[in-house]
Amino acid sequence: MKNKYRHIFEPLIVGNHIIKNRIIMGSMHTGLEEGGQDDFSRMGEYFAERASTGVGLIITGGISPNEEGALDGAIFNQQSQIARHKLVTDAVHNANVDTKICMQILHSGPLAISKELVAASPVRSRIGRLVPNEMSLEVLRKQIGDFIKCAELCKKANYDGVEIIGSAGYFISTFFVNKTNLRTDEYGGCFPNKIRIATEIVEGIRKSVGEDFLIIFRIPAMDMLEGGMSWEEICTLGQALENSGVSIVSTHFSWHESPVPTIATMVPRAAFTSVTKRLKSVINVPVITSNRINMPDVAETVLANGDADLVSMARPFLADGKIFEKIKEGREDEINTCIACNQACLDHAFDKKEISCLVNPRACNETNLNYLPTTNKKTIAVIGAGPAGLAFSEIAASRGHHVELFEASDQIGGQFNLAKQIPGKEEFHETIRYFSTMLKKNGVKLYLNKKVQPIDLMDKNYDEVIVSTGVYPRSLDIPGSDEDIVISYIDAIRNIDKIGKKVVLIGAGGIGFDMAELLSHGKKNPSTNIDDFAEQWGIDFTNHPRGGVTGVMAKASKSEREIYLLQRKVTPLGIALGKTTGWTHRLSLRKKEIKMLKGVTYKKIAKNGIYISINDEDQFIECDNIIVCAGQEPDRSFFNSANNTEFRMHLVGGAYEARELDAKVAIKQASQLAAVI
Ligand code: NAP
Ligand code: SF4
Repeated sequence: MKNKYRHIFEPLIVGNHIIKNRIIMGSMHTGLEEGGQDDFSRMGEYFAERASTGVGLIITGGISPNEEGALDGAIFNQQSQIARHKLVTDAVHNANVDTKICMQILHSGPLAISKELVAASPVRSRIGRLVPNEMSLEVLRKQIGDFIKCAELCKKANYDGVEIIGSAGYFISTFFVNKTNLRTDEYGGCFPNKIRIATEIVEGIRKSVGEDFLIIFRIPAMDMLEGGMSWEEICTLGQALENSGVSIVSTHFSWHESPVPTIATMVPRAAFTSVTKRLKSVINVPVITSNRINMPDVAETVLANGDADLVSMARPFLADGKIFEKIKEGREDEINTCIACNQACLDHAFDKKEISCLVNPRACNETNLNYLPTTNKKTIAVIGAGPAGLAFSEIAASRGHHVELFEASDQIGGQFNLAKQIPGKEEFHETIRYFSTMLKKNGVKLYLNKKVQPIDLMDKNYDEVIVSTGVYPRSLDIPGSDEDIVISYIDAIRNIDKIGKKVVLIGAGGIGFDMAELLSHGKKNPSTNIDDFAEQWGIDFTNHPRGGVTGVMAKASKSEREIYLLQRKVTPLGIALGKTTGWTHRLSLRKKEIKMLKGVTYKKIAKNGIYISINDEDQFIECDNIIVCAGQEPDRSFFNSANNTEFRMHLVGGAYEARELDAKVAIKQASQLAAVI
């Protein structure tokens, strides 16, 4: 294929397989893996839609080879389960004979839910609930046998291969490091003993399934553990796996328990590919890289630089099921880019909810949320071009409705325009670019700087009116709230240079945290510059000490502003932030020495500060500004004044419900309405 992404479209021969291009849809747990026939049908549909676009290889979410390794209910250890897996493999192969599909075998070791959980030694994971059971040699050999049996079942279910996860703090990786491997038998002690389990699993699978079956092994290429694997050990492991018969080595970064972000929005794009490149230089089988590669130009650069043979993009395939087709056809402006928020994917997976995607609620709902051409074309007015209004307009127009979108400000995006200014949230630019392209493509008539009133729409004969007027910041109910030092978060973001050196933030929700991040941002750009990122989080990419982090000082610079982040609740600040990203925000602010106070009672605001009490102890915080981040109220001014009209109105997004609202809820609600209107 002649395309500017020359390297992406170069086929790769692996054994007897031809992988048609260098993009892999990487493993993402969907929550469907635990289900029965119906869920596997849905999974088949989800993968088939992506396979039909021509992606080279798909890897399923992780499935355990036995009860003791299960992270949830997903296990493949019975002949009787082959039929449901065939629903997936048949769907993919029918959609595209060239797309390969491998099942990920995930034995979660110390993170398993079963009381029978096992790991190299009985050492509890920092994020695990239970201490794993000590394994006799017999039990250990059973685990190896279960991996082999699972791969045999995968072959019978017509998978093209398996991916074995030997990283992230799951079962196999607990053998590789001293911290979790205290064994004194032939599976512990010296390094060759520590990696014996990995090579025996691969050798056993290869012997059993033959040469034509793909075996991918995810290797901990930088485990981010103090005292973790040295670079020499990682190379030795890679070479040993190659000799044991793996087809492809996939590089994985960090254990889930290590306090270094590797996939959040605050991680620069393609931050870890230099590590893959070094590993690639010492082994001969193809090597996969991953993490924060969300757009084709990034993937192409990685491949052109020779950093990797294949690029794994997992979440980007959730965010846009047609991403590969758009890459092929040079329609990158139409890509709905993964913003690495984790809010509807990994946060849901960790909460044992079905996953989807914040920017694409159709992900994993391919059988029940469809945007089919309408048979009843309507003329629809949409009031407000924030996330809900944009999602509705784009989808309704794509179905054939005539959509007119009115926005009071001079740009589309609503609160996304504020979010994109927060350091580490730059990806929101992409979402606005996506909507901007799609509004044009689908023929939405956009009116900017147009604050419409119901009377403006009276004689236009709209069939439906969508009220997506969003929210306005909640004002404070504290004496002195009208003092000049008090401003809303919106005004603060817009006038950040005018904010003083000592600042109090009232409210510690997502916006309070975002404000603190923005106000404490120094001269470095850790979310876009890999060196600054490494410095902030204590990673040494050049010398790769043990774990990539041993002995490296994290150097997050202290905030130049003195910032107080306050809340009334007595729970730890930021506890309600996303499960997989909240800790990074909390840690980032702690490193910058932001003062986080809980259990605060607000007494009075003065000209130069605020009187509060905590545990009945009064104190006065002198400051230059008090920024109100106390949540939002629905903006229903249009709706209320149109109440007596004949409009068929629909409230969506923040205008419908501001409490607990975020873009995930707003986009989902608007998309569901647009699908049926
Ligand atoms: P929020 O999460 O509801 O937080 C509002 C904060 O204000 C709370 O800490 C609350 O804590 C305090 N508060 C509420 N009423 C108050 C009052 N009358 N006086 C003083 N304090 C008051 O709202 P938000 O921060 O504006 O966020 C809005 C939505 O966007 C949320 O759903 C949030 O999850 C989402 N968002 C998410 C992220 C993210 O990183 N995932 C980032 C930004 C926004 P106390 O009642 O304890 O004082
Ligand atoms: Fe990406 Fe967020 Fe969607 Fe997950 S929910 S796929 S991180 S955009």
